[in-house]
Amino acid sequence: MCLLWLLSGGDLAAQVRLSNNPEETVYNLCQDFQALYTHIREQSISPDSARTRFSAIMRALRSRFPSVESLQSDSSVVNSDSLHKPVSPFVFPLRGHSASSIGGSRGEGYRARGFDLFDFNVQGSHPAQDIFVRDRDQDSIEDRTGQPVDVLAMTSGLVIGIETAWLPGSEYRGGNWIWLYDPLQHGLFYYAHNNAVEVLPGQWVKAGQKIAEVGRTGYNAFKTRSPTHLHLMYLRILPNGLPEPRNTYDWLVVAQVMP
Ligand SMILES: [Zn+2]
Repeated sequence: MCLLWLLSGGDLAAQVRLSNNPEETVYNLCQDFQALYTHIREQSISPDSARTRFSAIMRALRSRFPSVESLQSDSSVVNSDSLHKPVSPFVFPLRGHSASSIGGSRGEGYRARGFDLFDFNVQGSHPAQDIFVRDRDQDSIEDRTGQPVDVLAMTSGLVIGIETAWLPGSEYRGGNWIWLYDPLQHGLFYYAHNNAVEVLPGQWVKAGQKIAEVGRTGYNAFKTRSPTHLHLMYLRILPNGLPEPRNTYDWLVVAQVMP
């Protein structure tokens, strides 16, 4: 084992248990994801090993929620037959804010090209929307209300990973982040640059529930040239368990705004 570990260049994939055990609980899968993403961020796992482990965790999560597919098709039938405009299942992720707070015009800040979740050396893409708050003095307090801005879950889901220990000077770009698994859509929401994170891995949250407060954590987000914002990314999980970024702009435009 030791020799193998040395030969693989200290790759932590050899040390970390793979989730093949059918008895493994959802909470164990959350712990696996938390460990994996930390390794990806610290580049202490090779991109190939990370890809394999990520896929295993995602396929295991999907198998834990087998009723989701029928639920999804049922609800789409109801919506298409309804005479009334269906209520969006999405909640706008900043309380008291709406689509006008999205950076750029018409969500043009989204650039998925070249994105690789598993290789932190690959930079330049931005498969996400940035949603800004009014915070001229950059104290993470909204200037009009004098209060922090709540980050709300866009959909119901399972918290599978969090970071809460970011400190100024740290080179981590995401700062204090949250990964939320949405079993209905089989995808992951990523909320980054938070100040206070108010959820724990393994916790279920409902759409609209407060999960954090907007902050300026993250290597670039902390710099004065960066206005205070939430970085929101959604990754659809493909049948092979691998992620594909999807632009959330259309969802944000129709999302329910929480006062
Ligand atoms: Zn961003």
